[in-house]
Amino acid sequence: MKRAEQVTFGGSGLDRAGLLRGDADKLAQAYGDPSAKCALLWRGKLLVQGEALDRLALLPMGHRIFEQGPGGVIEAPVFLGKTDEDAPLFAMDISDWAAEGLDLSGVGDFVDRTEQQHPDLPEGYVFAEMRRIMTRLSPRDAELAATAKAVIGWHETHRFCARCGARSEMSQGGWQRSCPACGGQHFPRTDPVVIMLITHGNSVLMGRSPGWPEGMYSLLAGFVEPGETLEAAVRREVMEEAGVPVGDVHYLASQPWPFPASLMFGCAGEALSRDIQIDPVEIEDAMWVTRTEMMQAFAGDHPKLLPARKGAIAHFLLQHWLADTLD
Ligand SMILES: [Zn+2]
Repeated sequence: MKRAEQVTFGGSGLDRAGLLRGDADKLAQAYGDPSAKCALLWRGKLLVQGEALDRLALLPMGHRIFEQGPGGVIEAPVFLGKTDEDAPLFAMDISDWAAEGLDLSGVGDFVDRTEQQHPDLPEGYVFAEMRRIMTRLSPRDAELAATAKAVIGWHETHRFCARCGARSEMSQGGWQRSCPACGGQHFPRTDPVVIMLITHGNSVLMGRSPGWPEGMYSLLAGFVEPGETLEAAVRREVMEEAGVPVGDVHYLASQPWPFPASLMFGCAGEALSRDIQIDPVEIEDAMWVTRTEMMQAFAGDHPKLLPARKGAIAHFLLQHWLADTLD
């Protein structure tokens, strides 16, 4: 798909400067570089700035917020790479921060609309939930944000060695955890998920999970299993969830999805039948939606179907299906 990388989190050609990760001296130099900047996370939320919260806030490494040392889920900053001007970029977490009187209601909700202002940061710098602001960020900011959130989230949930259970330590600028007890090396996880635009003639297959807001439907999706190709995962998931046999499958576009650590593989598949038989454990409903109905839904005019959520690859694929620009 020619436009594949235009998806939200589609990448910006960030120089990850991976060769520096293993070089402690150069990494220390980068850390002390006066031009070095740092993205900040708090409980999975990003520090953003601007009236529209459309810019990732990048703080100088010398900012006083870092003076007290690590105050969160990682013991040192993660090295993200370099700006186009060659300035080192890091990410840090201050999840331990819990200011007195801080209202935590709504924090961690699926759609967390709250914003938190840290007293050491200027007016207009707030922590915001990424799903809310992801479509407003530039491709570079989005790539930095997705990377920082995914890697820091991995450290938070992988503090102990999966081989021997000892506490592991950050290494390679945050791109590895090493076990001092058994020598085990562990790398940040990325879980492959297929999400599929299954069509039959002029219709697309949409489904909904139990508990979703009324009227919300999306493309079917599921984790790829060990030993499985993307194509086989698409056919298996659609059969399991909707009972629909799928013939030809091809890859369209991918999207890093750091909620918490997925890589979405957008695929197209041709249904061999229109008969639907759902598995009620996996999904609550599935249906065929015509192009006309989908256009109505995108315009917010469909009586039953809500428009797909902007920023997610499902929206991107459906939009290009409607515009006939999936090639
Ligand atoms: Zn170990």
